[in-house]
Parts: sequence; C-alpha cells; structure tokens
Amino acid sequence: MNFAFLRRHLFEPLHGRLTGSPKLAYWKDLEKNQYFSTQHLLGIQQRRLRELIAFVWENNSFYRERIAAVGLNPATMQNVTDLAGLPILTKSEIRDQMHNLLSRGLDQKTLQKAKTGGSTGTALELYFSEECSELRNACARRSDCWTGWRPGEPIAACWGNPKLPKTYRERLKFNLIQPYFYLDTMRVDEKAVRFFAEQWRNAKPTLLYGHAHSLYLLAEALQDLAISLPAPKGILSTSMMLIPSERAVIEEVFETKVTNRYGCEEVSLIGCECERHEGMHLNIEHLVIEFLRDDGTPASPGEPGRIVVTDLINWVMPLIRYQVEDVGVPSLSVCSCGRGLPLMDQVIGRVADFLIKLDGSRVAGISLIENTLTDIPGIRQMQIIQEAIDEIKLNIVPANNYTQETYDQLLSYFQDLFGDAVRYTIKKVTDIKAEPSGKYRFSICNVK
Ligand SMILES: [Zn+2]
Repeated sequence: MNFAFLRRHLFEPLHGRLTGSPKLAYWKDLEKNQYFSTQHLLGIQQRRLRELIAFVWENNSFYRERIAAVGLNPATMQNVTDLAGLPILTKSEIRDQMHNLLSRGLDQKTLQKAKTGGSTGTALELYFSEECSELRNACARRSDCWTGWRPGEPIAACWGNPKLPKTYRERLKFNLIQPYFYLDTMRVDEKAVRFFAEQWRNAKPTLLYGHAHSLYLLAEALQDLAISLPAPKGILSTSMMLIPSERAVIEEVFETKVTNRYGCEEVSLIGCECERHEGMHLNIEHLVIEFLRDDGTPASPGEPGRIVVTDLINWVMPLIRYQVEDVGVPSLSVCSCGRGLPLMDQVIGRVADFLIKLDGSRVAGISLIENTLTDIPGIRQMQIIQEAIDEIKLNIVPANNYTQETYDQLLSYFQDLFGDAVRYTIKKVTDIKAEPSGKYRFSICNVK
C-alpha cells in the first residue's frame, strides 16, 4: 500500500468528515454524471437554469429589472433559447453594479470573496457561497483525473507567486492530503530549474500543471540543461492559450500528452480535454455556455464566437449571460471517450488578442504567432502589439539560426496580411515578460 493510496482513501475522507466539506461527495456525483447522455445532462442544466431564474426574480433586484425590462416572464423561461432574450452582462457592468448584483437575504459572514487579476483592464470583486466553491473544486478535480493523475499523488506545478503552506495546519494538510511543489515562474533561472528537477526526482509527481507558456519555458530549460525527468502521468495546461508548437515541445520533453483546460476566475472551469484529446468537454452541469457572433446570434459549429456563460451554481452573485471576452469554437463532434459532456473545438484567444486590419476585419493573434513560428526559421518566441490600426510592433526572441532572411520574411508576412500602409517595427528581445499574474500575452491589440 503506498502513501498516495492512504491519502486518497483515509486521510482525505477523514479530513472531509472532520471539516464537514461536501467536496468529495460532489466529486463522486460528478464522476458518475459525466457518463450520462448529453440529453440527460442538458436536462440537469435546464432544471438548474429554471431554478436560477426563479431565484433571481424573487431575490435579485438587478436581474428582476433586467428580465422585466425586456418583457420576459420568468415562469416561462425554460431553456437556453429563452435565455437569449436577456442582454449580455459585461465586465464593466459587474464592476459598476457590484452591490446590485448581490442577491438579497444572504449571510455576509459566510460569503467567499475573490478578486480577479484584471489583466484585461478591469479588476472585479466576486462573491460566492462555500457550496459553490466546493462544487467548483469538485469539478476541477474531475478534470484533473482526466490527465491520469489520481487524488493523493504528488503534483508539480509551474506557477507565478505560488501560495505555499505556512501554518502548522496547512503543512499537515499539505503532507497528509495533497503534496505538491512549485517552480516559481516569476524567478526562473538555472539554479531554480535544477532545484525543481531535484524535487521532482524525490517526490515523483504524477501530474505537472501550470500556465501553458510557463510549461513550455520549463520544457525548454530542461532541454537546454540536458536534464531528463521521469515522465508524469499527465500534464495540465491552464489559464492561457496553448500554442500548438509549444505543446509539441512540452509533450516531447516530458514524453506525456498535454491536457488543455480552459476557465476563468469568474466562473472557474469552462472546458477541459479528456484522455482522448478530441476537444474540450464543456462543464454544462454548472454552466450554460453560448458562442455568439458579433451580432449576438449563435455561432455555427466550427465558427469562432464570443464565449458567454451563465453560472448556474452561483446564486450569491449570479452571472447571467456574462461575456468572458474570449473567443472559442463550438463543436458538434462526439468524443470517443463516451462522456456525455459536449465538446468545443478550441479557444482561440481573447477578444482583445485579435488584431484589426485596415478594412476592419479581425485576425486571431494566436494564428499569426503559430504561423510565423512554424513557417519562418530563426524565431524562438514572438509577441505582437498593435498600437494603432496602422502601427504594429513585433517583439521577437531570436533563435540561433536567426538571419536577415528571418527579418525579411517576417516583415513580408505581415505586409501581405495587413498591407503596406501599416508601420511595422521589429525588435529583438531576450525574453517576453510575464504579466504580474504570471500569464503571458503574445498578442495585444491596443486599438480602441
Ligand atoms: Zn472525451
């Protein structure tokens, strides 16, 4: 019997019983639910939606006004199609209407609060119940398990400013329930990578998780230092775009498939790949997820659309038709794993990551990066900043085979796409800096 088995079957259940946490019970339910038919899962989603609408009508002045203003009858709002009658909720509305968004009759003392990083320019304060938080944790755990990892097994992470256990209680929980260790991505140098590798050999983690680009930087550093580590069971890439060429490097270095996950701080997990990697399974038990064109109509399968979510489990500060400001591609494919949770193809970036051509059409920054990194030799990494409709700056980290030809090809690639009337600046840099949150942005559009 190994220690991970004891953690999973003895210490964690015991801890759950002592603290009264429902997380494990929620997780067990979710494990079963995932194999229900899509129809059955949509039934659960619709029931929760009806309950949420009935609740906000009685207890939330912001949504009562919204529903009344568009002339909808809450009693007849039955499904996602009816939901489409309500306006979109934006980040700035959440910021400005924060107190109105809170439902009535809540015990303030029991509420949990989170602050989002505001990397899109709007920091938000969010409130939710403990039950909502436990449901989210349970859902995250379900998708953690899709990587092959089992609860109680050690985890290695690449994270900026990681939270380490400080108090005796936290350390005890850390050792007895979930051991993990970090590479702090805000301070990566040879010494830190070597120390991380040493910890890896001692702890033998079965899961590696982190921001997509941080995982890539780690893989590259290990390659440069000729360090090889025992393969984990799974690698979980979270929180930002996973560029296919970077994914390939991570998978080669760790000899393990990457599991791509997508979510946001406001509603937690939205979608995650399973062990078959045929798309991201959407978390439809907890969310209604819409993909919308610019005119507000639903995007077709295969067509990029703005992601709009309705959180069915946060009744404290409900987010109904909240625009996350990311763009994703819905799918009608069915995953061969047998789970009933529907798929989306991929997330192709934030709305703010799309560059704008002189004719007003938009181009996904991630595609530009991917195309240039794959097609033009001599570029290790690249960041595109569009300062104005006629001004594009490229920061590139040159590879060893960088030549004048690299520069010329890059310039003509952008000229072909955006035209000669745009001013281009190509600058060589030693690295692309992370944002304070630890995330990286490769494509930034500052055109208002
Ligand atoms: Zn699947």
